[in-house]
Amino acid sequence: MSNKEPPNPLEEIQKQLKELFKDSNVKISAHEFPEDDPFRDEPEEVITDSKASTDEDKSAEALENIRNFQLKPKEIRDHLNRFVIRQDDAKKVLSVAICDHYNHVRATLSGKNSEATEYSKQNILLLGPTGVGKTYLMKNVARLIGVPFVKADATKFSETGYVGSDVEDLVRDLVKAANGDIELAEKGIIFIDEIDKIASEGSTGSRDVSGRGVQINLLKLMEETEVNLYSPSDMMAQMQAVMEIQRGGKPKRKSINTKNILFIVSGAFDKLAESIKKRVSQNEMGFGADVSDAKEDISTYLQNAETSDFIKYGFEPEFIGRVPVRCACSGLSAKDLAHILTTSEGSILHQYRDDFRGYGINFSITPEAIMSIAETASKEGTGARGIMTVMERLFRDYKFELPSTAIKHFEVTTEMVADPLSCLQALKGKNAHLQSTVWEGDVKRYAAAFEKSYGFTLEFKPLAIKTLITEANKHDQTIQSICDEKFKDFEHGLTIINRNTGQTVFKLGKLAIENPDKELSKWVVRSIECVKECL
Ligand code: ADP
Repeated sequence: MSNKEPPNPLEEIQKQLKELFKDSNVKISAHEFPEDDPFRDEPEEVITDSKASTDEDKSAEALENIRNFQLKPKEIRDHLNRFVIRQDDAKKVLSVAICDHYNHVRATLSGKNSEATEYSKQNILLLGPTGVGKTYLMKNVARLIGVPFVKADATKFSETGYVGSDVEDLVRDLVKAANGDIELAEKGIIFIDEIDKIASEGSTGSRDVSGRGVQINLLKLMEETEVNLYSPSDMMAQMQAVMEIQRGGKPKRKSINTKNILFIVSGAFDKLAESIKKRVSQNEMGFGADVSDAKEDISTYLQNAETSDFIKYGFEPEFIGRVPVRCACSGLSAKDLAHILTTSEGSILHQYRDDFRGYGINFSITPEAIMSIAETASKEGTGARGIMTVMERLFRDYKFELPSTAIKHFEVTTEMVADPLSCLQALKGKNAHLQSTVWEGDVKRYAAAFEKSYGFTLEFKPLAIKTLITEANKHDQTIQSICDEKFKDFEHGLTIINRNTGQTVFKLGKLAIENPDKELSKWVVRSIECVKECL
C-alpha cells in the first residue's frame, strides 16, 4: 500500500491557476496548506511544533517589552554608538522619535491615552548618501526594541500593484517578519529606501505620475488603515480565506491596522542637495555665485532641506507632512571607515575572523593595513559598503587556499592589501616545508575513510605518499580527489583477493600510485594462483 498523501485539491488548483495566468500580471503566490486546510484529514497524532511555541514565546515577550517600554533617548543613542560610527545628529533625532513613538504605543496599549490628545506619528525621513548607516541605524533600533523590521525600495512599487508590488505588501511582509503575530506586526517598523525616486516631477525627471500614486498609497498606510492580510491580487490567498470562512470555527483576524507602525523613508536626494547648495550659496555670496566644487561632500547641504524643498522636488505636501522627523546622515571619510572596521561591534572584520577561525586560522592586521583598506574602500564611493567589496577582494584567495595548508596564522599588511595574490604565494612559499605534514594527514584521512567504508586497511609506503603529493601539486588537486580517482576499483578487487586469501591489509608502494589498475590486477592474479596452489 502506498503511504503517499492524497493530492490536496487546493494545491492542485494553485498549480492550474499558475499555469493559466503565467503570462499575465495576476499573482498566484505559493501557499502552504497546513493543518487548517479543510481538505486534509485530521492528523492521527498531534505533534507539538516546538519552533512554533518558541516563536509564540518570543512574540509574547516582545509585546510584553513594548507594554513596559522604558528606554530613554540617551540609552538608545548609547546602544547605537556600539554599532554605528558617526551620524550623531541622526542618532539623537532617531532616539527621541523612537522613544516618543513607543511611549505612545505603550500608553495606547494600557488605555492611558486621552482621546482628546492629538498624536502625530513620528515617521522619519533619513537623507544621505548610500552606505552611511541609514538602514543600519534602524535595524539596530528595531533589534533593541524587539519589533519586526522590513525594508524595501520605493522603486519596486507601482500605483496599482499589478506591475510591481503593492505598498500594502510591506505590511503583509511585516506580519511574516513577526512570525505571523499580527499584534506584534502592528508595532513594527517599515523602512522604505530610494524614496527620492518616486518624486513625481521636479529635478529628478525619472519618475512619472505613478510616483504620485505610490505616494498617495503610502500616505494611507502612514496615516491609519486596515490592510487585508491577503493580497487582493493573490487569488490563492483569497480562495483560502473564503474556504476558511465557509469552514466556520474560530474567527481569525483578517486585517492589520497600521496606526502604530512606524515608517522610515530614506533616500540619497543628491539632486536636492545640489539645488539647496545653489540656494545657500546664492544667499551667502549673492546671485550668480559659482557653485561647482566637485570634491565637496554635497550631502551636507541636506541638513538645510525645508518642507518647500521636498514639495518642489516632487513630493505631495500631504506625504511629506506625514514624515515630520527629518534628518540628514553625513558621508563617511576614509578615517570613518577605518573607525568602523576597528570599533563597530558589527564590523565585517569580526565576520572574517570567525570565517577563518572555522579552519583554525587566525590573522592579525596592522593599523596601516586598516587605513589602507579604508582608503581603498572610500574610493569606491559606496560608503561603508566599499569596505565589504575591498575585503572580499583581499581575502578571496586566502579563504580558498589557506584551509588546505599548514598555515595557522598570517598578518594583513599594506603590501597584502596592495597585492593580495603575490603575498599569498610568498606566505605559502615560506610555509612550504610544513605542507608535507598536511598532505600526509590527508592521505591518512583517506585511508581511514576507506577502511571505515570497506573494511580494508590501505598502508601507504613513504614513497607512495611522496608520489601522491607530487601529483596533487602538479594537478592542483586534493589528495582526496586523486585517491578517489586512482582507487575507484579497489573495493571490488580487494574483495576478490580477500575472498581468495582472507587478506585485509594492503601495502601500497610507488607502483600502486603510478599505475593502480595494473597493480591491482597483479594482486588479484597472485591471489588466484595462491588458491590454486592450496588445492
Ligand atoms: P544605507 O545608508 O544605504 O542605508 P546601510 O545602513 O545599509 O546603508 O549600510 C550598509 C552596511 O555598511 C551596514 O550593514 C553596516 O555594516 C555598514 N555601515 C554603514 N554605515 C555605517 C556606520 N556609520 N557605522 C558602522 N557601520 C556602517
